[in-house]
Amino acid sequence: MANNSMPNGRAYAECKSPTAALARQSSVRKSSAGEMTGASALPSLGTAGRLVDYDALIKHFDCPVCHDWVTPPIIQCRKGHIVCGPCKSKGLKACPICKQRFSDVNNWMMEQVSLVIAFPCKFQGNGCHIYSELIHKTSHEALCSFRPVSCQYGIRGCTQILLYHLMEKHVLECRFKPPNLHAQLSSSSSRDNSLN
Ligand SMILES: [Zn+2]
Ligand SMILES: [Zn+2]
Ligand SMILES: [Zn+2]
Ligand SMILES: [Zn+2]
Repeated sequence: MANNSMPNGRAYAECKSPTAALARQSSVRKSSAGEMTGASALPSLGTAGRLVDYDALIKHFDCPVCHDWVTPPIIQCRKGHIVCGPCKSKGLKACPICKQRFSDVNNWMMEQVSLVIAFPCKFQGNGCHIYSELIHKTSHEALCSFRPVSCQYGIRGCTQILLYHLMEKHVLECRFKPPNLHAQLSSSSSRDNSLN
């Protein structure tokens, strides 16, 4: 099959989280022809070559109530439609799609599939292009450069909330910054920057 018939290589090509690459390196695909040649997405690209339509697959994990991703434990109605755990916990009594009651049994198959695909970062709408396996998703999002953060001078009165990668510049110019801290902050900001 020719490469141009694989429109969904995109998602995997963008799966460049170093943690995801490391996890794959230590996972079961040791014998793959795409064995690691550095921290690239090679092993994932090997998978993408056999996945016909990533976008069609991932959309089945869209919660019909809150539109967050449905992740394990995956609750299903008696017809097999799924909703996310938080929506069910908020008192959902019937399936929002077919109005049937929920099953006592989780959707085992969807749970298994969710463990072998990459999900987009929840800050995708802010510009992040990282896709991670579920086990790495939360740790990426906790440090994502596109997450909104409050100014560190909030206790002095600043109400500014910006994406992390923009906040670094704001902090240097913030009008609530004590004037004598300028030199100290410049050096601590550049240390933070090297972590990302
Ligand atoms: Zn939901
Ligand atoms: Zn249903
Ligand atoms: Zn992100
Ligand atoms: Zn500020």
